Amino acid sequence: SQDNKALFIIFGGTGDLAKRKLYPSLFRLFRKGNINKHFAVIGTARREWSDDYFREIVAESIESLQPTQQEITDFTSHFYYQAHNVNDTAEYQVLGDLANRLDEEYQLDGNRLFYLAMAPRFFGTISKHIKSEKIMTENGFSRLIIEKPFGTDYETAELLNNEIGAAFKEEQIFRIDHYLGKEMVQNISAVRFGNNIFESLWNHKYIESVQITLAESLGVEERGGYYDQSGALKDMVQNHILQVVSLLAMEPPTIFSEEAIRTEKINALKAVRVYDEKEVLHAVVRGQYAEGKLGDNSFASYKDEPGVEENSQTETFVAAKFMIDNFRWAGVPFYVRTGKRLTEKGTRINIVFKSTPINVFREASNDPADLPENILTIYIQPTEGFSLTLNGKEIGDGFNIDPVKLDYRHSQENLDNSPEAYEKLILDCLKGDATNFTHWDEVATSWKIVDIIRHTWDKETTPIPTYPAGSMGPKCAFDLLESDGHKWVWEP
Ligand code: NAD
Repeated sequence: SQDNKALFIIFGGTGDLAKRKLYPSLFRLFRKGNINKHFAVIGTARREWSDDYFREIVAESIESLQPTQQEITDFTSHFYYQAHNVNDTAEYQVLGDLANRLDEEYQLDGNRLFYLAMAPRFFGTISKHIKSEKIMTENGFSRLIIEKPFGTDYETAELLNNEIGAAFKEEQIFRIDHYLGKEMVQNISAVRFGNNIFESLWNHKYIESVQITLAESLGVEERGGYYDQSGALKDMVQNHILQVVSLLAMEPPTIFSEEAIRTEKINALKAVRVYDEKEVLHAVVRGQYAEGKLGDNSFASYKDEPGVEENSQTETFVAAKFMIDNFRWAGVPFYVRTGKRLTEKGTRINIVFKSTPINVFREASNDPADLPENILTIYIQPTEGFSLTLNGKEIGDGFNIDPVKLDYRHSQENLDNSPEAYEKLILDCLKGDATNFTHWDEVATSWKIVDIIRHTWDKETTPIPTYPAGSMGPKCAFDLLESDGHKWVWEP
């Protein structure tokens, strides 16, 4: 593999994300030779740390990958620490000098990757200074990686985008959505566009409904304070869920290139019906977890979690029916749901195909009801793979139909060897491939879909529905499908 040349400047280098995701991902890339001799990392944050102490922290953060002593020494020798308050213009000079020195020492050809692992309220000022203090280079590339949340609604997102856009061009901005780094999310495209038996049926004539579940079994843990200001709609639906919707709904790109895929994803998102307030009340439901039990575990209610307001109306669960107003999808509901403290952790997509036009077995069968539907399931986590249910004949007299499930899951060994989402995304960014990052048009369109939902709920005076921790959400989430004559395929 290629030894990519770059200087990584990580703002928020002492933070949780840096330690839990970024340093381990960089180490994986180092091990595979994707970065090798010609890279350096500057960690910055307010604290005064020495290079040595920083290297110890980095070494600790990669412990679970079981590096040899030699690997630790080699890898961490590329790490430098610079104490730096991002609001202080003068301090950027020091940072710039260090960057230039390392550029020369490691022969980095001016390639720079600025990773903002900090709260979004700092993004504007950091970008501005990177430009004004000339930390951006003229030779080589300068790319910005930023984390979610990207705004809290369309207006704030646009403001943020303008601030960043004053320093970086759209093609230099890499907005992370770690779901897009997942192998199986990328595999959605392989399943669709690599298999004629699916792509030729991928429309309203043959598909009854599309169901997407992003279930978490954990509660808010230590993030109660942050989460209470956000909620599941902004935390999950605006980004991850709508990204998955667009991958499933988009038209086939003419060629699998960044630009072609992006165009089709944006077109798909733009076709998602933006509801009015009345429609929101029918098509989108929310819930908040109350106390509950699962097996031997009992869980506290959301309102009792640390950092959460006593009377919080924040949703920890959302289920919605999205409609896509184009020829391909007219009339096909895309049901989505996501929540915390659900029965089981897992991300799954179920494509429910329409039954055959009539059941020719109706007289011979014990069960003259409709034939069971064919279902394509894409498992995204914790297992990865897919399954397809087909109808066969039950052995024996009469003509009873027996659904058979063809199931393929990647082995644990394959999974262990597959690149972690952040690792993939950082490598993509080094190569300048933004396919699996979110473009501004996608951010903007998603916020427009979500904003009206939030506004409608903000006006609601009835208390938020609750669901017992350990269940699959409030009753209204089941009613949502039942009133259309459907039901959730996945019932853990
Ligand atoms: P954190 O609070 O652990 O880290 C924040 C970092 O910013 C620290 O290093 C802190 O020292 C530094 N900092 C704060 N104020 C500063 C200032 N004025 N000058 C210089 N440095 C300053 O946060 P985190 O959990 O690592 O999250 C970082 C970003 O990533 C946030 O935008 C968050 O929403 C996002 N994010 C985090 C995760 C995660 O798993 N932690 C997941 C998705 C997105």
